[in-house]
Amino acid sequence: MERRENEGVISAEKLESAAYTAPSTITIKGILGLLMENIDESNEKRVISLGMGDPTAYSCFRTAHVAQDSVLDSLHSQKFNGYAPTVGLPQTRRAVAEYLSRDLPYKLTSDDVFITSGCTQAIDVALAMLARPGANILLPRPGFPIYELCASFRHIEVRHFDLLPENGWEVDLDAVEALADHNTVALVIINPGNPCGNVCSYQHLEKIAETARKLNIPVIADEVYGHLAFGRNLFVPMGVFGETVPVLTLGSLSKRWIVPGWRLGWFVTSDPCGMFREPKIIERIKKYFDILGGPATFIQAAVPRILEQTEEVYFKRTNYLLKQNSDICCDRIMEIPCITCPHRPEGSMAVMVKLNLSLLEDISDDIDFCFKLAKEESVIFLPGTAVGLKNWLRITFAVDPSALEEALRRTKSFYQRHAKLV
Ligand SMILES: *Cc1c(COP(=O)(O)O)cnc(C)c1O
Repeated sequence: MERRENEGVISAEKLESAAYTAPSTITIKGILGLLMENIDESNEKRVISLGMGDPTAYSCFRTAHVAQDSVLDSLHSQKFNGYAPTVGLPQTRRAVAEYLSRDLPYKLTSDDVFITSGCTQAIDVALAMLARPGANILLPRPGFPIYELCASFRHIEVRHFDLLPENGWEVDLDAVEALADHNTVALVIINPGNPCGNVCSYQHLEKIAETARKLNIPVIADEVYGHLAFGRNLFVPMGVFGETVPVLTLGSLSKRWIVPGWRLGWFVTSDPCGMFREPKIIERIKKYFDILGGPATFIQAAVPRILEQTEEVYFKRTNYLLKQNSDICCDRIMEIPCITCPHRPEGSMAVMVKLNLSLLEDISDDIDFCFKLAKEESVIFLPGTAVGLKNWLRITFAVDPSALEEALRRTKSFYQRHAKLV
């Protein structure tokens, strides 16, 4: 093949423009990968990761039988080997609309629902649809870094408001008002919360909706942990306040059905007043889905039965396990002086805990703590820096209870070795 003379020049330019657009955001997967590389293999201890929320690694977290059967039947039927409409199979859209409508004061229709590859893709759709020159978006801190990453690819400026640990991780609504301007395109709420494990009360959600209305911005409600609530507050979907403010509801099967690998999620306009129902907007969303193509058709076809027939006892069991594990987590943490938990988790699969570096001899920050803990004890926590809070840690407790006990026992002995002598 003939080699063109300027080939080198072109690729250098391409590299440079790629570097220009490469987002600086730290991803959870990226930092956990580095921590895993830092594990000391000569050390006999088995690796316990409380870094990422994938409970499928533990046999106590299994999906429901009906979910498995439904996928098998859908595959065996041989009716779902073809393309689905890019916005999703009609029966899947209808089933998601009915499932979400159970908790709403109005009824969603199939037209409100778009099927995505997990909640991750629903996030991408939301930001792609809202992006425009000069736009900014309000994100929670601590948060879920996929939002920052997505925003950076879309050239949307990110503005962070704090979640307040002393108020049970409620949104600092004064900060939201101070941050918003006429270029603000949305406010993101993750409820039940990742990384904090908080569950917003009805009253707090109502205040959020009223604030967004006042600012004239829609709410993006990430409800991927919907119904995984095991504390005082019941899960209330943001869509309940859809008459106050237009809501984009994002969700998936990943967490409640413990099948993150099935990549089945939804992007839903919970908007009874029809702000998002303008033909131009709907056309735009539909066109964007033509690029995405949608998740596997046979998984989509399994969704109606999964949503209609999963038994209550399955959900109760998962919430019971999560509650039990979150209690183990908080109780064991109380025995480790350098870590404190400001607010017991009430939902989701993670908790944020604060590091007290003044009690440690030779640890400079949360990242240093996590690297040394990985090396010495083969235990992985996520440094708070990865979710926006320096010198905090995120602990995922959706693991086997014995693994959780063991990981926290090792963390305690790590503390004892590194404790500052007084
Ligand atoms: C896990 C998670 C997602 C992504 O969900 P998938 O369905 O696995 O893509 C989105 N948002 C939050 C807050 C999550 O924790």
